[in-house]
Amino acid sequence: MEYSITINPATGEEVAKHKRLNTKEIQEKITISDSAYSLWKNKSFNERSVYMHRLATILEENKEEYAQLATREMGKVIGQSRKEIEKCAWICRYYADNTANLLADEMIATEASKSYVTFKPIGVVLAVMPWNFPFYQVIRFAVPALMAGNTGVLKHASNVQGCALAIENAFLKAGFPEGAFSNLNINSKHVKEVIENKSIVAVTLTGSDPAGRSVASIAGQNLKKTVMELGGSDAYIVLEDANLEEATDLATLGRLQNNGQTCIAAKRFVVLDEIYDSFLSLYTQKMKAARMGEPTDETSYYGPMARVDLRDELHEQVLKTVAQGGKLILGGYIPDQKGAYYPATILADLKPGMEGFDNELFGPVASVIRAKDDEEAIALANNSQFGLGSGVLTADKVRGEKIALQLEAGSSFVNKLVVSDPRLPFGGVKNSGYGRELAAYGIREFVNTKTIWID
Ligand code: NAP
Repeated sequence: MEYSITINPATGEEVAKHKRLNTKEIQEKITISDSAYSLWKNKSFNERSVYMHRLATILEENKEEYAQLATREMGKVIGQSRKEIEKCAWICRYYADNTANLLADEMIATEASKSYVTFKPIGVVLAVMPWNFPFYQVIRFAVPALMAGNTGVLKHASNVQGCALAIENAFLKAGFPEGAFSNLNINSKHVKEVIENKSIVAVTLTGSDPAGRSVASIAGQNLKKTVMELGGSDAYIVLEDANLEEATDLATLGRLQNNGQTCIAAKRFVVLDEIYDSFLSLYTQKMKAARMGEPTDETSYYGPMARVDLRDELHEQVLKTVAQGGKLILGGYIPDQKGAYYPATILADLKPGMEGFDNELFGPVASVIRAKDDEEAIALANNSQFGLGSGVLTADKVRGEKIALQLEAGSSFVNKLVVSDPRLPFGGVKNSGYGRELAAYGIREFVNTKTIWID
């Protein structure tokens, strides 16, 4: 028998052990999800929205329990875990209240007596999800997919199986039919057989680009649609007129929120020459002052990373960057304590070709890059294999917007960290993936956009 093991990253202790499904159990759960689909697809938007409002209430009523679970399994500081659950409830209500509009039939004038586009569900959708927002990533996929009339099966990250089970139970408690949303506790090597199951019609993956390449190629072989939400190395351009206090506060939060493990976090700071030294000096003070501590301690600014192996890989990337000529300004060592802690770290004077410039640093490490003017800053920001989020910090909103429009990324925010919001589409370009989640664009990914013509 195989198990997934969860280690509390703050203590290094094993906190849970969950039995993996075998091939027969995987097939049975998919069959149940397929049967649930044949009932669920016939419910109206209004009927589905009643279930979704109940799910929102259940998430809120159990917020503390779910937040503690997420913190125990992946180390997020407790206040941020609570906010994650609140955001999940918001997504449920947003789609409960708006799906009828987002998926309303679109009348198209033609020579027909009546012609229009209608959006029909397609079947059972597989979601392969990461541990970094263990509730939110799943809800962001499942809520629109189910509101559109599909059912969903989840392959969650191995270290957050407690969260996966809690989400499955929350759907059941809200009264959804068995199989409308199911958790498959499987090893990633079993993802292939799930994709190949004839009941699975599409796949969405949020995670690293190697996982995305593997899953997308299997889905491609089976002609099943995919949405890929992959990594990022978001650049934030800091112009010479930016408010330095605000810019350094934002940069500190950007690199330490979720212990530095957010796909759309600000990761590379491209700072104009004129303010480079003062930005770096104030930023160093603030990163140094941010308190690393127990994630359950309300006064900790950031906690441990999610796993020791991920922390060790990040440290290797830092050492490589320094060996390539990057300047280590702060941090950059493995602390002598239990758990997967890594201190706030700043690498400066980075250039293309260095590890910290070219690749994603998925932890509390900031890359600071010097640019002589706006043009060079835009070129450096766009000199990346990724294109998820991006930003501009400036006192001049017009100049900021002009630059934002030139950044090669799925979103560009001026004077604010990129956040996902159910009212706006979310996703990337280049190696950050393709397809969109959220808003009308997200809910329309997993539907049959169907033409009706009445002559
Ligand atoms: P990961 O290692 O790619 O894992 C993500 C999920 O994929 C997990 O469920 C994992 O299962 C599974 N998986 C890994 N390799 C697989 C394979 N070859 N075939 C099938 N499934 C596979 O990524 P992570 O370390 O959890 O998350 C960090 C990455 O996700 C970062 O690059 C981050 O930027 C990205 N991310 C992107 C977004 C976005 O919206 N664009 C959001 C969050 C995170 P196991 O746990 O069992 O290995």
